[in-house]
Amino acid sequence: MSEFIAPAKPIIGEEERAAVDRVMRSGMVAQGPEVAAFETEFAEHFVPGRPAVAVNSGTAGLHLGLLATGVGPGDEIIVPSFTFAATGNSVALTGATPVFVDIEPATFTLDPEAVAAAITPKTKGILPVHLYGHPARMRELEKLAAEKSVALYEDAAQAHGASLDGRPVGSFGEFAMFSLYPTKNMTSGEGGMVTTATAEIARRVKLLRNQGMERQYENEVVGFNARMTDIHAAIGRVQLTKVDAWTRTRQRNAAFLDAHLRGVTVPPVAEGAVHVYHQYTIRVPEDRDGFVRALKEEHQVGAGVYYPIPNHRLQSLAPYAAGLDLPETERAAREVLSLPVHPSLSADDLERIVTAVNTVVGAGA
Ligand SMILES: *Cc1c(COP(=O)(O)O)cnc(C)c1O
Repeated sequence: MSEFIAPAKPIIGEEERAAVDRVMRSGMVAQGPEVAAFETEFAEHFVPGRPAVAVNSGTAGLHLGLLATGVGPGDEIIVPSFTFAATGNSVALTGATPVFVDIEPATFTLDPEAVAAAITPKTKGILPVHLYGHPARMRELEKLAAEKSVALYEDAAQAHGASLDGRPVGSFGEFAMFSLYPTKNMTSGEGGMVTTATAEIARRVKLLRNQGMERQYENEVVGFNARMTDIHAAIGRVQLTKVDAWTRTRQRNAAFLDAHLRGVTVPPVAEGAVHVYHQYTIRVPEDRDGFVRALKEEHQVGAGVYYPIPNHRLQSLAPYAAGLDLPETERAAREVLSLPVHPSLSADDLERIVTAVNTVVGAGA
């Protein structure tokens, strides 16, 4: 029997282990020089010209970014329902209302026309998600935000290195969040990075991450402890030197799948967009769950479903969505299936994935 091909596989090497050891031996493990260096290097790497602030999770990054830009009770924030729950959760945690809007079917990201229709006098901002590593429709959303005088933010949790018209994700919004969770395109163990449009927003995120203090014991605002440790930052700094090569491998793997898969809709890439393939997501219109099972049981290929339940129907977030009908979101939740595309795949693994998909498609025809 062939070895199981995992749907995701974090790569943690000798250099990461050595970096952790270096910090441990220094005896200074909480937020310090490693975090400061990681922030500078991350910003230079992904969003040159913008400041970056490290926090202890992507979710904390979204939450603090929203608070730092003044989001709170009474505000409405437009979000997709077809995403990880952290997107809507972070809005709800500020006391604002997440307003769930449908996606456009090609890229699985916010539909700008649906966003326009959802804007009310209470709308404070729009929080698109660059889902699966493909940039959201930022041209249209940027224009709309300017016309309607609302803010634009970015959930770039899955999109390190993605871009649109040569502009990197993380450079469009008042703030953007990148996740550093192990299955994301790079990791620090757990962690998040917030890039901001202004030094003042960065300062506020820093205040909120550290009990509202810039100077020790002079607390300016009510804040959290959302600090990253130097241990995690040291891991992230090493990963930062490797992530571009991993992204190129993801893109090569995706191109191979595009060229060889038959009878399924491969993920389209919008004009001007660079896709970093956090996930390689196809649609299976009939019996998706049976397809996932067949890949796993008959071919030992691990496929993932991101996400089977739209956020507006989760018990936790449904109270914000009474009576909502989001047909493209529902259809995507029924049809999507993500194939392994991560940089640890061998040529043999890729061949096996293609054979598995094409065989299951053929069997179903
Ligand atoms: C992973 C993820 C988050 C949350 O990031 P954490 O680091 O896990 O807190 C938020 N939004 C999206 C779209 C994600 O994929």
